[in-house]
Amino acid sequence: MDVPHLRMFIDGEWCDSATGETFEVHSPATGEVLATLPKANREDVRRAVDAAEEAQPRLARLSIKERAEMAVRITEAIRPNIDAWALDLTLEQGKPIKEARLEVSEVIPNLLWNTEDLKRLETPVLEGYSKPEMMYLLRREPLGTVGVITPWNYPWLLPGEFVVQALICGNAVVFKPASATPISAVHFLEAMQHAGIPRGAMNLIAGPGPTAGMELVENPKVDGICFTGETATGEEISHRAGLKKVGLELGGSGPLIVLDDADLSKAARDIAFGCYNNAGQVCCANGRILVHEKVHDALVRKVVEESRRWRLGDPRREETDIGSMNNEPTLAKVERHLADGVGRGAQVLAGGRRVPAMPTPLYFPATVVDGVTTDMLLGNSETFGPVAPILEFRSLEQAVEIANLPRYGLSMAIHTANIKRAFTLARDLKAGQIVINDPVLYWDYNHPWGGFRRSGIGRVAGRWTIEAFTEIKTVILNVGESPDGAS
Ligand code: NAP
Repeated sequence: MDVPHLRMFIDGEWCDSATGETFEVHSPATGEVLATLPKANREDVRRAVDAAEEAQPRLARLSIKERAEMAVRITEAIRPNIDAWALDLTLEQGKPIKEARLEVSEVIPNLLWNTEDLKRLETPVLEGYSKPEMMYLLRREPLGTVGVITPWNYPWLLPGEFVVQALICGNAVVFKPASATPISAVHFLEAMQHAGIPRGAMNLIAGPGPTAGMELVENPKVDGICFTGETATGEEISHRAGLKKVGLELGGSGPLIVLDDADLSKAARDIAFGCYNNAGQVCCANGRILVHEKVHDALVRKVVEESRRWRLGDPRREETDIGSMNNEPTLAKVERHLADGVGRGAQVLAGGRRVPAMPTPLYFPATVVDGVTTDMLLGNSETFGPVAPILEFRSLEQAVEIANLPRYGLSMAIHTANIKRAFTLARDLKAGQIVINDPVLYWDYNHPWGGFRRSGIGRVAGRWTIEAFTEIKTVILNVGESPDGAS
C-alpha cells in the first residue's frame, strides 16, 4: 500500500519544506510506516512566523463573537471524525482505542468551555487611588504571535488545550507537534480549516525539536511560547527564549500517599489507573506509591491483584487496557530504572519485562516493584512507563520529605479517611494540585493546571488559559474637570 504523504500548513496553504526533505512516521503498535511529512528547517519556520505576524492584527480585530464561533466550527468538524481520528491516534501513539476515542472527543467540551469563558470575560475598572479624577480601564490583549510546542503522549488533548485557545484570544499561532505524532496534528489542522480563520493566523510545522522547535523559541518575532514536554527541554527553552512570555508544562513524578486509615481497595484501583493509563506515559501519572508501613503488605497484595487485570495487547482492540509504548528511548529508560532498582535491592512482583512475539518490541506489561527507596531512579525521578514503584514510610513527616524530594510538583495524591491529616499533607506537599482520595492522574476543564518547581511555570485550563495567552493593558483616563471648570 502507498504510504500517504501529509503536509505542513503555512500561510493558508498545505505545503512541503523548502528543501523537499521528509521524515517517516512509524506505528509503535504495528511497526508499519504510517505517513511521510515534510521536515521543516529554520527557514520554513521563519516563513510560518512571518505569515503569523502579518495575519495577527486582522485576527485580533475580529469580535469575540466571531472568534468564539470559530472554536464552535472546529468542534463541529471534529465530531463526525472522532472514530477515524482516534484510530489514527492509536496507530501513531500506541494507546488503546478506548483511550484514544476519549482523548479526541474530550477536545470538544474543553474548547467549548474556554469559548464560554472568553464570551464572559470581564476586566475591572479601578478608581484612581491618589488621584480621584483618574480611572483605570484594564483590558486583556493578545500576546501577538505564539509558538505552541507539544509532546507525543497526548497528541489531541494538548493542542486541544492550547492551539485554539491561543487563537481565540487573538494570537496568531505556529504549532509544532512532536515528530512521533504529527498525523493527529494534521487532522487537528483539517478541523481548523473549516473555521474561517484569517489566512496566516494558524500554521502547522513539522520537524525536529532542536532545529524547527528551537527556531520558534529564538525567533524575535515570536511573542509567546507555550511548551509542554520534558523538564530538561523546558529548561533549555527558558534559557533561549529571552524575554518572550513562556509557559512551561513539564515533567512530574507524582507520589500517591496511602495513610494507614485509607480504603485500601479504592487506593489499589486508583494506583493501577494512575500507573497504567496510557502505559504510564503521563506527566501526572502516579509516579511513586508511598505507603504507611502498617498497611504496606495488605496494599501491595491488592495492587498486584489489580495490576493483573490490566490487559496488554493490540491497542486497536476494545478489550486492551495497555497498548504499545510510544518509542524505544522511553521504554529503554523504564528498563534502566528497573535494572537500577533491582540492582539496589528492589523486588519486581509483577511484569518487569518486554512481552515477546508482539508486532513491535514496545509492549511492556503492568509492573509492580516493591522495596523501592529514594536512592533509586524509580524512587527519585520520572520513569514514564507502566510501573508502580512502592516506597514505605513511617510518619507523615517522612512521607512529605519523600514526596517533595525530586522537586517535581505537578500533581500529588493522598489516600486517607482523616480530613485533618489530608489537609496537613495538602499544606506541606509542594505541587500545583493535591488530590484527596483519587489518583494523581486527575484533570478537569475548569481548575488551574500547572506545576511548582521542576514541573513548570504558569497555569492553564479554564479562565487561567485566557490569562496565559493575554497581557493586561491599563488605559488611564482623566475624567476630572479642568481647573477653569471646562469639561
Ligand atoms: P520532549 O522531548 O521535551 O519534546 C516535547 C516537544 O518539544 C516535541 O515537540 C519536541 O520535538 C520538542 N523539542 C525537543 N527538543 C526541543 C528543543 N531543543 N527546542 C524546542 N523544541 C524541542 O518531551 P517528550 O518526550 O515529547 O514528552 C514527554 C514529557 O512531557 C514528559 O516529561 C512529560 O511529563 C511531559 N508532559 C508534561 C505535561 C504537563 O502538562 N505538565 C503534559 C504532557 C507531557 P521532537 O518531537 O521533534 O523532538
